[in-house]
Amino acid sequence: MEFFNEDENDMTKPLNNIDKMKAIESWQESEMHPLTCGNGKCRNSLQDDFVEGEVVLSCVCGYIQKKIPEIVYTRYKRLLVDGPISE
Ligand SMILES: [Zn+2]
Repeated sequence: MEFFNEDENDMTKPLNNIDKMKAIESWQESEMHPLTCGNGKCRNSLQDDFVEGEVVLSCVCGYIQKKIPEIVYTRYKRLLVDGPISE
């Protein structure tokens, strides 16, 4: 499997797991609307986690979300290529 790298700038390639986790952290710390827990009334911010070899989102309540919005990764790829965006 070939992963995205900023020199090649092929947006169709996926980020590796380390970069996926950095992408989630970057999103949650940005001005973007944070990813929040979908477990009942829990609305805590989700954090990057690693479960069974996969990058996931997890909540302090125990909720795990496996589906991560593609925009989180797309945004991070652009950051790698273009440098920090002033939001
Ligand atoms: Zn929760």
